[in-house]
Amino acid sequence: MEQYQLPRRAALAKIALGPANYTTSSVRISTEGIAYMGLSPFKFLPAGIDANLFRPRVRLLTDSEVFSTLYRAAGFEPKPSDKGNYHREVVRIFDGLEGAAKFFGSQVGSGLLSQYLLKEPSASGQGVLLNNDRRYLDFAAIAAASHCYGAETVALIDDLIALGVLSRGLVLKCGRCSYSAWYHVADVTQEFACARCRQTQQYKHEHWRDPNEPSWYYDLNEVVYQFYSHNGLVPMLSLLALSKRGKESLLYIPETRLDGGAIGSGKEIDFTVSIDGDLCLGEATVSSALGQTATEETKRLADLRKLCEAMGANAVVLSTLSGAWSKQTTARAGSEFASSRVQVIFLTKADLPNFQEWERVT
Ligand SMILES: [Zn+2]
Repeated sequence: MEQYQLPRRAALAKIALGPANYTTSSVRISTEGIAYMGLSPFKFLPAGIDANLFRPRVRLLTDSEVFSTLYRAAGFEPKPSDKGNYHREVVRIFDGLEGAAKFFGSQVGSGLLSQYLLKEPSASGQGVLLNNDRRYLDFAAIAAASHCYGAETVALIDDLIALGVLSRGLVLKCGRCSYSAWYHVADVTQEFACARCRQTQQYKHEHWRDPNEPSWYYDLNEVVYQFYSHNGLVPMLSLLALSKRGKESLLYIPETRLDGGAIGSGKEIDFTVSIDGDLCLGEATVSSALGQTATEETKRLADLRKLCEAMGANAVVLSTLSGAWSKQTTARAGSEFASSRVQVIFLTKADLPNFQEWERVT
């Protein structure tokens, strides 16, 4: 099967060939793919060879099924974390890992997102910060933050609205309770209902910020906000870097919470990936160390080793958006994994894809 190589683990062979009665001794996952014993051991039955052939129905397991099965076989109960869910959603919005990474990694995407995360007071050309601690940008603020100008800004806004990344609306202040809020274009007519006191009122000059006419303000999709504010880009770029190392097959799940098992409940692993059948677990960070203190880092590395060994992982990937890992971190990782068969792969900023331009969708 092209571009699909499962990790070579007995636990997967059985469910990949379900629902027939295969045992792990008659089916296994080899470097060539799923292998099974073609002839039934009951070869003396009178019905002839056809009736005694196994006829497996091979089922393509989803990435989630693959890794959930492996974690459960190793004694862990895996569950997508919030960050894992944000990752899945942005990959869906941008139609794939690479499309999402290109947007968030580009000057346009990172510039725009950084402006949406800004907590400075409202200012002309900088957007407005409202009571819900979210920022809303107008045309001028989007142009400045994304380094797009004129027609480029118009096209960028169109694209991002089409993708569901931005929504158009108005920022209005209630005449009764003075509460300022952003209202989606679908929620305003000639009137609006205050988000706090529910008073319906016609919006007049005193309800908007700018002279003469109300301006459009753009709201950022909350999942995109959460993804970016939780540094979701680093594991995303790491996965993309790893996918380029494989020849054909990349299966992965983003951040997952693990309960039970060898490292205690509630631990999270940033990504779990199978590259051409090799299983790797990974941590990704913007910092050059894996913890704030030596104790924290040593504990994290020990947990990673136990987790990798329980899973029979081929490698652990430590990835940073920083230019280099700290010397202490590489030394600690080296000594933690010295007696282990698990390979340690360090990735730094230079190993991660670097996108300058975002190729627009239309
Ligand atoms: Zn009100």
